[in-house]
Amino acid sequence: MTEQKTSKISGFYKLSIEKRRELIQHFAGLTNEEINAFTKSLPLETADRMVENVVGTFELPLGIAVNFLINGKDYLLPMATEESSVVAAASNAAKIARIKGGFTAECSLPLMIGQIQLLDIPDMVSASKEILAHKKKILEVANLQDKILIDLGGGARDIEIRILDSPLGKMMVVHLIVDVRDAMGANVVNTMCEALAPLFEELTGGRVRLKILTNLADKRIVKAKAVFDKESMGGEHVVDAFLESYTLASIDSYRAATHNKGIMNGIDALVIATGNDFRAIEAGAHAYAARDGYYTSLTRYHKDENGDLVGEIELPLAVGIVGGAANMHPTAKLCRKILGITSAQELAQVIVSLGLAQNFAAVFALSTVGIQKGHMSLHAKNIAVMAGAQGKEIEQVSDQMVLEKKIKLDRAKEILIQLRKTR
Ligand code: NAD
Repeated sequence: MTEQKTSKISGFYKLSIEKRRELIQHFAGLTNEEINAFTKSLPLETADRMVENVVGTFELPLGIAVNFLINGKDYLLPMATEESSVVAAASNAAKIARIKGGFTAECSLPLMIGQIQLLDIPDMVSASKEILAHKKKILEVANLQDKILIDLGGGARDIEIRILDSPLGKMMVVHLIVDVRDAMGANVVNTMCEALAPLFEELTGGRVRLKILTNLADKRIVKAKAVFDKESMGGEHVVDAFLESYTLASIDSYRAATHNKGIMNGIDALVIATGNDFRAIEAGAHAYAARDGYYTSLTRYHKDENGDLVGEIELPLAVGIVGGAANMHPTAKLCRKILGITSAQELAQVIVSLGLAQNFAAVFALSTVGIQKGHMSLHAKNIAVMAGAQGKEIEQVSDQMVLEKKIKLDRAKEILIQLRKTR
């Protein structure tokens, strides 16, 4: 019988780094060599193949969010982030979500959209007819560009025509819909669009300008839902307070921007840890948040008949488990192994669940104790280091500041001087 592994780990934060690694190694079945790779930085020769003009590498802390149960499966989530409290908040939200069964996530097919912009078309109506009449040929030309993708069951699926008014007059934009399987898909979509340009010029009598994918990947949508137990939140009045806070994000773009930033705290951290393109994800998420003509929250909340809080999230997520940096970066490969994911769609469902958890945690804290309390301890340590504290002094100075609820650089310096005098 295979052992059932759980991500529900109490007091993970209290363990030493070594002990945490041991747990991860056991959970994900990592070899000693793999787990030791966490201490190694990206090899310079790999970095040099990834970007231009390399002189070094830049590291971020990698934390593990625990307690995640998504579609009935336990996950430990690697998160690359520089922001304190984010990993702890996600773990705590996942712990509450677990009580009512964890997260339920679903996603569409991995369909990306390429855009081909056409100008100076003499007759839009007959150009549109020509394109539609040659749809089969268009898809064939597109699918000649990536044999591997076609063999894997992906490829160009459809075209859509949009006619837009612009200061330059009417222009046509053809959308090419491509199933990119387990890739993020930017390269294949761009290659297909470029290959199709001469054919579109021939069919329309117009001139092609842009030929590139859109990051508003609104045919690649991922959703998650979770029920947050009212008792664990502190009672139904806290659920009500939460809903009051959430309502502002649903009606006001100023609040929605910060609300969605909280979602991206989680999403970006996992997107980065798995070697994916976080700018693409950010661009798609925010464009989707404004899809109805005004910018609003990417999550929705309501209270169910038991008085528990129901949270839902929906956004496009163009992430891959092959291609880009995903296959080049050794830590990204290791993070995928810890996740135990087998497809880009599964990864997207895990990421969107983390986004919901992160958002719940932030709004929950804001509706009760405020977020500063959670931020305090690590923030105090950073301030202590800034003041010049070293070794054990860091903890001593930060503990004193937390006790005094006065986390300021000048106070850290005073405490440090005092500490050194009394030694
Ligand atoms: P890629 O081209 O490196 O790899 C994808 C290719 O891998 C596929 O085309 C296919 O030939 C092959 N493949 C092997 N196994 C596969 C599988 N199971 N499923 C699908 N394909 C498989 O990567 P990509 O995803 O096309 O491009 C991602 C990169 O493009 C990222 O680094 C991103 O930053 C960059 N990029 C982004 C944009 C943008 O977002 N606007 C624009 C240009 C480039």
